[in-house]
Amino acid sequence: MRVFSLESVIEEFETLTKDAGRVQRETLRKILEQNGDAEYLQNLGLGGRTDPESFKACVPLVTHKDLEPYIKRIIDGETSPILTGKPITSISLSSGTTQGKPKFLPFNEELLQNTMQIYRTSFAFRNREYPIGNGKALQFIYSSKQVITNGGLTAATATTNVYRSEQFKCTMEDIHSRCCSPDEVIFSPDFHQSLYCHLLCGLIYSAEVQFISSAFAHSIVHAFRMFELVWEDLCSDIRHGVLSSRITVPSIRAAVCKLLSPNPMLADSIYKKCTGLSNWYGVIPELWPNAKYVSGIMTGSMEPYLKKLRHYAGSLPLMSADYGSSEGWIAANVNPGLPPELTTFAVLPNIGYFEFIPLEKPEGQVLENCASIHYIESEPVGLTEVEVGKEYEIVVTSFAGLYRYRLGDVVKIARFHNSTPELQFICRRSLLLSINIDKNTEKDLQLAVEEATKLLAAEKLEVVDFTSHVDVSTDPGHYVIFWELSSSASEEVLSSCCNCLDLAFVDAGYVSSRKIRSIGPLELRVLRKGTFQKILDHYLVLGAAVSQFKTPRFVGPSNSKVLQILCRNVVESYFSTAYGC
Ligand code: AMP
Repeated sequence: MRVFSLESVIEEFETLTKDAGRVQRETLRKILEQNGDAEYLQNLGLGGRTDPESFKACVPLVTHKDLEPYIKRIIDGETSPILTGKPITSISLSSGTTQGKPKFLPFNEELLQNTMQIYRTSFAFRNREYPIGNGKALQFIYSSKQVITNGGLTAATATTNVYRSEQFKCTMEDIHSRCCSPDEVIFSPDFHQSLYCHLLCGLIYSAEVQFISSAFAHSIVHAFRMFELVWEDLCSDIRHGVLSSRITVPSIRAAVCKLLSPNPMLADSIYKKCTGLSNWYGVIPELWPNAKYVSGIMTGSMEPYLKKLRHYAGSLPLMSADYGSSEGWIAANVNPGLPPELTTFAVLPNIGYFEFIPLEKPEGQVLENCASIHYIESEPVGLTEVEVGKEYEIVVTSFAGLYRYRLGDVVKIARFHNSTPELQFICRRSLLLSINIDKNTEKDLQLAVEEATKLLAAEKLEVVDFTSHVDVSTDPGHYVIFWELSSSASEEVLSSCCNCLDLAFVDAGYVSSRKIRSIGPLELRVLRKGTFQKILDHYLVLGAAVSQFKTPRFVGPSNSKVLQILCRNVVESYFSTAYGC
């Protein structure tokens, strides 16, 4: 019988963070000792030293590109120690939505353990504030396809590697988060059928559901957009105890049919509740009256979905989940009472060795509402040397490799918890939109879209999703913003949205280029309904998983398939007149 105590998890966290500096040194030592035989390390002249100073002096900072030759050999089946002491047995596919193709990264037992530690820690803090009873969780989780590499390793998204593990099940039991849906639904080869069955199982067990969750909040919004379309079919399945013919995968049919028996009372109650709602506001607490909260990652590129999520969640609190990446986990949300916009993540000092590259904004370039600054970098500092209020790029050295990996995320230090910092996620560092001297990040695009969507609110319209592109086939080149809308809008409104978008990019390089016409008028292209679903489907075919999916906020020419999907689905387009040209 496993004994799991929330108090001891919190205690463990408090102990670990009391002397985070010491734990970091120990963690680095462990990582280096475990992987001392790896070829990558042997070539760097560390000579068995495990202290941070020698590590920093000998091991270079890397990005994924630098690691590709090593990872390729692992994928091809070389079993000698290349990046890790122990041979790598599985590969993680990161979402890769920005580059257009997934990145391959090593995955191992330690990463799995770290994941469980993160899940347990944030759950313990969440449960202290919002205790849940024994029950189930409506989890919109999906596995990706598992592929076998040339060298015989299994490759799947990091979340899939986690969901497939025995430990995941045990941890979910421990934290009272058993999924309503059977495994066949989670590991289904068909995302659409999986989603329908998650909803159905969630309704069958509605009285027991304690919370609603997904890895990234986008999946919950996506699920309820789907619910709006299929709720009557779901009711009918429950009423007659017969699974819809849309579910064709035999394993899912068999598993879900076992849970289904005619229940006209439940069907009537769902029907009544749904028809009583106004525009689906508060559908989650209405149908899952014992749910205490909604959880999932809601920060960073998930922020644009918060408004819709709040709408569906009504009175229920939203709780942003933890911070990590396929390269390794970083931090847990230990202040679950804070709204998603203020979420911070406390770094767990024993799950990796963390460094922080200070990013300074050049004098005079600090603009409110503008993330697009060319940062001045200095030497990386250690976990306990960061300063509150300052911004950094994180470098992770995880147990799945001993390279110093630049994650490409910008974080701000919000405060310290004992001696470990709490991070606020700011944005991905990479530039999305840039034609000449202009620089705009994902965050700048998000702020611009937020500004322009204010004009849609009066019309009761929403942007379902958005992305961008730089069109240099015109001279001069110009920004293109793609919008999928919840329903059609008038020309007048859309042309003012287009002008508003153009003016909302306040980066000095953009504004001056627009004024002198070295960048042409911004173009707003409105997409046919369902276009982003097509894009998601495209990524699923490539091996992505909905659980880790993030809509690419920029589509470059190398991502030709997605660009083609976008361009083929444009129904109308507007050019800005904001700068008079
Ligand atoms: P992937 O490796 O595909 O799982 O993507 C990892 C990336 O997702 C990170 O580098 C972040 O940019 C983003 N991410 C992960 N967790 C969070 C979070 N809690 N808030 C904001 N962004 C996140």
